Amino acid sequence: MNVPTARRIYMDNHATTPLDPRVLQAMMPYFTEKFGNAASRNHAFGWEAEEGVDRAREQVAALINAKPKEIIFTSGATESDNLAIKGVANFLKSKGDHIVTCVTEHKAVLDSCHRLERDGRARVAYLPVDKFGQVNPEEVEKAITDKTVLITIMYANNEVGTIHPIAEIGKIAKKRGVLFHCDAVQGVGKVPIDVEALGIDLMSISAHKIYGPKGVGALYVRTKNPRVRITAEIDGGGHERGFRSGTLNVPGIVGLGAACELCRIELPAEGGRILALRQRLQKGIFDRVEYVYLNGHPTDRLPGNLNVSFAYVEGESLLMGINEIAVSSGSACTSASLEPSYVLRALAVGEDLAHSSIRYGLGRFNTEEDVDYVLRRTLDTVERLREMSPLYEMAKEGIDLKSVQWKHD
Ligand SMILES: *Cc1c(COP(=O)(O)O)cnc(C)c1O
Repeated sequence: MNVPTARRIYMDNHATTPLDPRVLQAMMPYFTEKFGNAASRNHAFGWEAEEGVDRAREQVAALINAKPKEIIFTSGATESDNLAIKGVANFLKSKGDHIVTCVTEHKAVLDSCHRLERDGRARVAYLPVDKFGQVNPEEVEKAITDKTVLITIMYANNEVGTIHPIAEIGKIAKKRGVLFHCDAVQGVGKVPIDVEALGIDLMSISAHKIYGPKGVGALYVRTKNPRVRITAEIDGGGHERGFRSGTLNVPGIVGLGAACELCRIELPAEGGRILALRQRLQKGIFDRVEYVYLNGHPTDRLPGNLNVSFAYVEGESLLMGINEIAVSSGSACTSASLEPSYVLRALAVGEDLAHSSIRYGLGRFNTEEDVDYVLRRTLDTVERLREMSPLYEMAKEGIDLKSVQWKHD
């Protein structure tokens, strides 16, 4: 495709984030002179690598108020989600076989649950969400049976940015003696997350959503109150307390650690800065465009997430109209077949408005200048596309489209 290179703006930070140059700098020595295997206990090459891994474990733990030994390194959050859900289900199968989750979870969670169901290893309650995308803690509690072993609810949704009432769910889990796994990929590093305060027992983290490298992540596994035990998915040398065998990806792990450290230090200022950028974009759109709708929760949402539907505009056409800007639409993001997103459908966003949705994901490297450029290009393109839309013309003339009798032959 012919993408102009004069100006390119990345505003799709829920899909992935650029590597922070400071993270790359921390990783570099571990590709070259510090190439040792962290499991080599008998020479300095191994010790050097192990030191890098140990430091990273402390850095990840510090960001979420965990202990270093509670951090298990993985290949990313997809693996962390699989390990948490299947690992708990398999380990506790003599105790129970029931899992409580919600319909807007990431596919890594939903498909792990589906796999357990298909194999006859678990029964799963998929809770609905309200029109803002939040699960109701009372429904979580009601869904728990004497066979429930795990609740898995994400911290914040990757499409609409809605933050669930995690502390309340954590309390319910504790009260009922059920383990609580949280896919916190979108929340970690963006908002303060404290696994103790929130009552989280297992938590998935991904490096590439917090300005670290792709292909590395972590699973937090609580060691006290309660001591959580899981069955490993990958067998081998018994690395990572036996929960995840395989030679450690030392440069990646060092990168994840450095990324967590930067988030911990910069989060207070960065959260406010990114929120202000998102509000500037949101206000700019809502002040100047009619028939525009916010998807997700108005306040309980990630600072950097803006998901809006522009009625009478095809999301895919808008994407093509602003193709020097990287954002996502609510149509194509989960399948090649232009189905509207299952997340928007779960929020009861109508099919038309789901196809008209755009997700702007603001991040560390976006500036006010970026926002103003993206705003101007969005406004111009929405206007141009609507000028070509007969439905928009009819709406403007006050014709209620729902009352129109469309002629079929
Ligand atoms: C990106 C993402 C994942 C998958 O993480 P990977 O590290 O890319 O495997 C899981 N859950 C959520 C909510 C995500 O946004």
